Amino acid sequence: MNTKKNNLYANKYRLIGNEFYKSSKYFEALRFYNKSLCHATPMSEEFALSLANRSAVYFEIEEYDACMENIKMAIDFGYPIDKVKKLHERYDRCAELIECFKKNSENDPWNFFRLSYPANQQIPYIIDGIELKESKKYGRHLITTRQLNAGDIIAIEKPFYKFIMNNSRFTHCANCLKSEKLNLLPCHKCNYTMYCSKQCMSIGHRFHQYECDIDMKIDQDSCIFQMCHRVVFEALGIFGKIGKLKAFLEANSKPRTIFDHVMSCTSSRGDKEKEKNLLLATHFLQRNPIQSQLEEPMEKHCQLMMSITDNVDNKKFLHDFMRHQMGLIITNSFGLIDNSEEVGAGVFPFASYFNHSCAPNVYRITYEGKLIFIVIRPIEKNQQLFVCYRENFFYTDLDARQKEIHHAYKFTCNCEACRNNYATLDKLPRHDAKVKISSSNSLPLDTILTEYEKNCDYINANYQKYPSYEICKLIERNYDLLSFIVCVATSCLNFTADE
Ligand SMILES: [Zn+2]
Ligand SMILES: [Zn+2]
Ligand SMILES: [Zn+2]
Repeated sequence: MNTKKNNLYANKYRLIGNEFYKSSKYFEALRFYNKSLCHATPMSEEFALSLANRSAVYFEIEEYDACMENIKMAIDFGYPIDKVKKLHERYDRCAELIECFKKNSENDPWNFFRLSYPANQQIPYIIDGIELKESKKYGRHLITTRQLNAGDIIAIEKPFYKFIMNNSRFTHCANCLKSEKLNLLPCHKCNYTMYCSKQCMSIGHRFHQYECDIDMKIDQDSCIFQMCHRVVFEALGIFGKIGKLKAFLEANSKPRTIFDHVMSCTSSRGDKEKEKNLLLATHFLQRNPIQSQLEEPMEKHCQLMMSITDNVDNKKFLHDFMRHQMGLIITNSFGLIDNSEEVGAGVFPFASYFNHSCAPNVYRITYEGKLIFIVIRPIEKNQQLFVCYRENFFYTDLDARQKEIHHAYKFTCNCEACRNNYATLDKLPRHDAKVKISSSNSLPLDTILTEYEKNCDYINANYQKYPSYEICKLIERNYDLLSFIVCVATSCLNFTADE
């Protein structure tokens, strides 16, 4: 695959964007303008034209800040002088409208997604009162040392390693995986990497400096290998040199977890420390062996990775490190969903400590590249926290669940639903005919929140009846409501005004 800039392609993609723009398919228009921008030689006329066209979309969808920003860049980057008058007019119009249409920030899901209790002092992205335990029966697992209730938000975790899918290269930041309404900046060199900000571009440079040059055969190989390359590059980026990473791992060979370190920091020196601590904690997560069908391509990718150095020792280190990372990814990566599309994947050390249950007590949802952990039903002090890796018991019976879990994770599920053979949702006992479960799905945010809180109150007050039909229906409904909260924020981006 050719990863060089090429204005012929930039033109081609811009024209496709124009077609989508004309038919008011604004998301697709922006996607193609981004693709065009990414292929255009920096500072060329094509570069400026893509920015200007992007500004037109932002004008249409009333994103006046983004519109003005794109106009400024288009002019700076040499927009043709004979047409620039139109841009100035659009800019002035934005300045007028921006005053009348001050976007309210009330719809920001981060107002809602906040930790429900004081943060753990060492690990600021989880609440105080969660502990990591180890036992023969459960392996590493999480328990709560406080009583938790439905609706409690107990952790908001950023991925340590993360990776963007090919289909999201022109719609999401290669570093933080946010889409930022597709208002992205291209890498100066290659034609397939974009960032949401200059800051992400500079952080991303640490891993992308290796990625940008290497021929990754992006189109041909499966994501898991691309992700594996990225993870190795990210680790290298933290240390700057292969030898330094190697020496660090040799000096820290004792297994540890995020609970063994201080993960918070304020200084930039502290940031580096935190990253190294996270790297170690991630390095010692459980790993599964690499499946035999992956062995051959794995070896090929190891060779590709080794080509970045001439030193024999470093080559051997990279080979082993790459295989180690592959085992980690297979076992510990989580898909990241945006608007029901998988945009990337990440390795999250905290998330990896959760055990599975077919009757989980914690939901795991993704928003802007982060995993948010929310309590489903009351959890007593000293009880274990569980998420569901696959299907819960609502629609899948015992036999099918056991087979699926065994096939995917090689263990036999012995959760409360499996031990007690909980009936599926349609066969569960009904206790309370008064409970009304709404099924409406296009609500304003405050209505969603009111319903969600009411459901939590009911679950908290009646949780002894679990698994009753009503409680389980409300649990299911609450999960949908949480997805709606996320969608409210991105709804302006479902901007196909055509339907
Ligand atoms: Zn970003
Ligand atoms: Zn690049
Ligand atoms: Zn089970």
